[in-house]
Amino acid sequence: MKNKVVIITGGAMGLGYAAADVLASQKAKLVLVDYNADALAEAEEKLKKTYEGLEVLSVTADVSKEDQVKAYVDQTVDKFGRIDGFYNNAGIEGRQASMIDYDMDVFKKVIDINLMGVYYGLRYILPIMKEQGYGRIVNVASVGGIRGVLNQSPYVASKHAVSGMTKNAALEYGQYGILTNAIAPGAILTPMVAEAFKQVNPEDPKAAEKEYASRNPTRSLGDPQDVGKLVAYLLSADNGYVSGQTIAIDGGESNMY
Ligand code: NAD
Repeated sequence: MKNKVVIITGGAMGLGYAAADVLASQKAKLVLVDYNADALAEAEEKLKKTYEGLEVLSVTADVSKEDQVKAYVDQTVDKFGRIDGFYNNAGIEGRQASMIDYDMDVFKKVIDINLMGVYYGLRYILPIMKEQGYGRIVNVASVGGIRGVLNQSPYVASKHAVSGMTKNAALEYGQYGILTNAIAPGAILTPMVAEAFKQVNPEDPKAAEKEYASRNPTRSLGDPQDVGKLVAYLLSADNGYVSGQTIAIDGGESNMY
């Protein structure tokens, strides 16, 4: 990934930050996008300390706001002149509630960020990659983009949509040298998943974590760095022919019933 320009949304923590760390170790030029300005500044500082000479542009933006998406894309092109890779990762889980009890405002927020945010990114980045005749995109779905997950209806709907949109981007833009895939992580221990365990068992989130891990074929949760390495491969020119796929990284969980 040396000198490749990669935009990472939700880059301040969790899976976005882990991929930034892997890509920085491979000498990519990074654009970190996040709506949490403090976490973003911390992430940039930590990466620069670890990887001497690293080029990073941090942009505070909410991916569910179309004008802010256009702004992070414009700033990337102004600074680096091109976009080789796009990790379309920012997303939220929402609250856990049954379908008929789900809070409508939270439902709409999950769709705005997880679906519209992913679409806006594609809408503004695909034309640039098309012009270049080259691009690699990884959208973030979930195991919840492959099957249902109890009490997470908007999340599951949005992640199935991401998987579907990935197929369309692959079909429509493959002819321009752009390969688009989605990843479907299972339970990877990030701040988002730690929060979900707090909701499941507010008294003892560690017990919820253990119980969840015990149901995975590997009896463990995933490591964000492992996801980062898969993403780095899919965003690289080493990936010459994988496109339109939703690739599970879940210890085999999505094969269970
Ligand atoms: P996280 O909460 O740990 O980190 C997400 C980051 O995205 C945060 O820095 C947050 O500030 C940022 N973000 C959220 N909404 C944003 C917005 N509207 N605009 C800009 N930035 C925003 O979450 P994570 O676990 O790293 O999840 C990252 C992605 O992976 C999400 O799309 C999530 O649905 C997906 N995912 C995660 C897991 C998992 O096990 N961790 C499993 C399946 C899918």
